[in-house]
Amino acid sequence: MSKVAGVKGMSDLLPGGDVEAFQYLETRAREVLRRTGYGEVRTPVLEETALFVRGVGEGTDIVGKEMYTFEDKGGRSLSLRPEATASLVRAYIEHSISNQEPLTRWFCFGPMFRYERMKTGRYRQFYQLDVEAFGVKGPAQDAEVIEVALEILRAVDLKGVKLELNSIGDKECRPAYQQQLVSYFTGFKDQLCAECQARLERNPLRILDCKNEKCREIARGAPKLLDHLCQPCREHFAEVQRLLALVGVDFTINPWIVRGLDYYVRTAFELIADDPVLGTASAVGGGGRYDGLVQSLGGPDVPGVGFALGADRLKLLMQGRAFAQAPDLFVASVDDKSFDAAFALASKLRKDGLWVETDTRGGSLKSQMKRADKSGARFALVVGEREVAEQAGELKPLRGGEPRRVPFAELPVILRPSP
Ligand code: AMP
Repeated sequence: MSKVAGVKGMSDLLPGGDVEAFQYLETRAREVLRRTGYGEVRTPVLEETALFVRGVGEGTDIVGKEMYTFEDKGGRSLSLRPEATASLVRAYIEHSISNQEPLTRWFCFGPMFRYERMKTGRYRQFYQLDVEAFGVKGPAQDAEVIEVALEILRAVDLKGVKLELNSIGDKECRPAYQQQLVSYFTGFKDQLCAECQARLERNPLRILDCKNEKCREIARGAPKLLDHLCQPCREHFAEVQRLLALVGVDFTINPWIVRGLDYYVRTAFELIADDPVLGTASAVGGGGRYDGLVQSLGGPDVPGVGFALGADRLKLLMQGRAFAQAPDLFVASVDDKSFDAAFALASKLRKDGLWVETDTRGGSLKSQMKRADKSGARFALVVGEREVAEQAGELKPLRGGEPRRVPFAELPVILRPSP
């Protein structure tokens, strides 16, 4: 029979390092989020396509080119979520959360789907930790979510990640700036890449973060939005910076950050890793403020600010760390007659909270001990008639050290895993 392969760009996460790295990241992130009052939300991976068209923006690459969209058996157009913010906003509106509380802090962790050109750190199914705060217009909320992002990175001991900050204005100051940008880039139209020529009409701000060398060179001479912010946007941005400095968060201003999504206003930020392992996919996270989004999706006029961290890229940055854990004990049987006793001892010790493995195939002691070595267990214990009679056995360290005889009853205490 021919084999069926997994879908390109979507990988299996297996035990032995991959899954453990994700679990570690999730656990540490949860601790940070809990301490700041964020509650976990789980939304479906499928939504009505219209949610993303309206929430992410028709002119974006995500909606225009990258969504997995299909018709279900009832003829509805559904899409696999390409990001989480729109889904969380939908849930926020659908459950009338704003009637229940003025300030809502939510997070979610899960797979996102984008039909992207693949390379290191860029996949078609990837995992994001998404953090959102609804209800606060003021800059303290921007500063809080940004600090949370950095605290999560600190909690998983990733040091070489830098915060880059920008303000992209709002509906008061952006349109006039956008006009200036269009006039500027129109002067260079022939030299822009094909995609940026299209962006000139659809989404001129996006030309600023095009990766094409020539476009970048031209963009360097473009007018900067930071020089054209209206007074309230300028004050907001200054406050965000002051509060970040107050809590010891370092950042640099990067006037070229625009974010790919239409609904951002004012604060926009990215977390950039300085590590060659990521190649050009150096952004490990990004976010910003989206004050008009809730309303544009049919909800009340509630502001929001949030970010997403890319778990796959963070995992790449943690490569080389040992995440996989190993059994506390491997129980082997001298021969077939002792199999039951070994099997029962393992069962009893698991109930006491230990991670205990056996070779359920039975077989020779030699092959069982091979399996014990392979399992990475800290200790092995061989059960035979004498051990059963004495209810004690030789505890053999598998990674160096002297064996010693111990009563079975003491094993849970001796082997208690370190917390
Ligand atoms: P975005 O939702 O595009 O702002 O992305 C937020 C973060 O998710 C990025 O900084 C990346 O770390 C991660 N990310 C986005 N797209 C991908 C992808 N295709 N594969 C892996 N990670 C991604």
